Amino acid sequence: MKVSGEALMGDQSYGIDMNTAERIAEEVGAAVKAGYEMCLVIGGGNIFRGLQAAAKGMDRAAADYMGMLATVMNALAMQTALERRGVQTRVQSAIPMTTVCEPYIRRRAVRHMEKGRVVIFAAGTGNPFFTTDTAAALRAAEMGCDALFKGTQVDGVYSADPKKDPNAERYDQLDYLDVIARDLKVMDASAVTLMRDNQIPIVVFDIQKTNGLADVLDGRGVCTVVGP
Ligand code: UDP
Repeated sequence: MKVSGEALMGDQSYGIDMNTAERIAEEVGAAVKAGYEMCLVIGGGNIFRGLQAAAKGMDRAAADYMGMLATVMNALAMQTALERRGVQTRVQSAIPMTTVCEPYIRRRAVRHMEKGRVVIFAAGTGNPFFTTDTAAALRAAEMGCDALFKGTQVDGVYSADPKKDPNAERYDQLDYLDVIARDLKVMDASAVTLMRDNQIPIVVFDIQKTNGLADVLDGRGVCTVVGP
């Protein structure tokens, strides 16, 4: 599941709202208890966005590394919230920082998941000029995930921003190519392409709704499935 930095902000305009992190942890914990193997990729936009800093004149690669470091902070917050609920976790960072968390080692991450631990992937792909959406797609492919869940602030993909346009229409199902060709704001194009190449569905749902994840996993929830 991809959890954007924005989702961790709650009602704040910046940073981590621990109550929101706790609520998301509750949902993840419930899914694990129900028997799902879960791993998370955490964004960093609530703390730092490389592109915005670069627009103000900062070197893009340096700004992106700062963005990746922000995702590590979020990952540690999420780990704390999950472990408070008795969910076993491991944070693995694409940028090694071995005194803080494990480095990303694919086979080790697979093993953690087999043991029922939630692996939280931090530092995106470890490369500048990428996003955590692409990191989520990459990890989903590497870990052999059955689906990539994208938790957003709305309950699926719409023809326009539903918060601005009352006539915006929600889609139940979309083809990967529709999303790319119509530039629908689901995930960035490289993430969608990677999911298409690997035939992994992307499930877009409202992460702010109580039991949102459980409902979608049960097939009762409102969401958009981007798939073949
Ligand atoms: N980032 C990066 N490479 C990656 C993932 C992230 O350089 O593989 C940087 C990039 O600067 C980005 C920031 O980390 O702006 C935070 O990630 P993102 O914007 O994807 O977070 P989200 O929007 O999900 O909160």
